[in-house]
Amino acid sequence: MRLVVIGPPGSGKGTYASRLSPILKVPYISTGDIFRENISKGTSLGKKVEKFLNSGLLVPDDITIEVVKKRLKEPDCKNGYIFDGFPRTLKQAEELEKIASPDVVLYLSVPEWLLIKRISSRVICKNCGKIYNLLNVKPKKEGICDVCEGELIQRKDETPEAIKIRLNEYEKKTKPIIEYYNNKGILKIFSNDKLDLKPEEGVKKILEILGVRK
Ligand SMILES: [Zn+2]
Repeated sequence: MRLVVIGPPGSGKGTYASRLSPILKVPYISTGDIFRENISKGTSLGKKVEKFLNSGLLVPDDITIEVVKKRLKEPDCKNGYIFDGFPRTLKQAEELEKIASPDVVLYLSVPEWLLIKRISSRVICKNCGKIYNLLNVKPKKEGICDVCEGELIQRKDETPEAIKIRLNEYEKKTKPIIEYYNNKGILKIFSNDKLDLKPEEGVKKILEILGVRK
């Protein structure tokens, strides 16, 4: 199966896409992870994309498309893929069509209040980078990291005001993609307005929507 998962920041794309991978037996591909890995290894690709990621901007289409083309040539992609974070623009969607067009595009629809609540509940350890969520992955001691006792802080781009800006940006860029796939007749929508939906329950619902039996 060739599956694309799209949705706003905080909609659970990574959570669901990574859990669907072993069930559907196709690799989970996150362009964000590939970029971050290259940055930490100091590759030439890493150096090229670093400034975009650090400033919260989209990596240019040509770089992203090259990365995806290369990844799809790996042998584990012969039965398909699950994309998280790609395509992000209409241009990328059109390019994917030429390489390996998706069978299904799953859109995670989550109301804005819930996205804001979820993302703004995230805190990160200043020292070791471990991420907590005050809704469901709480530290044992308030404000202190379980692992290294570092101070837990909120990321600058995860305050309610910053999240609103990110969501507006997302909506502007992604709406055309949703329309594009809807017109092709391959768009499926998973709507979730529950704050406490467990990942495994969400996966079960998504499999029903995709018409896959476990
Ligand atoms: Zn820590």
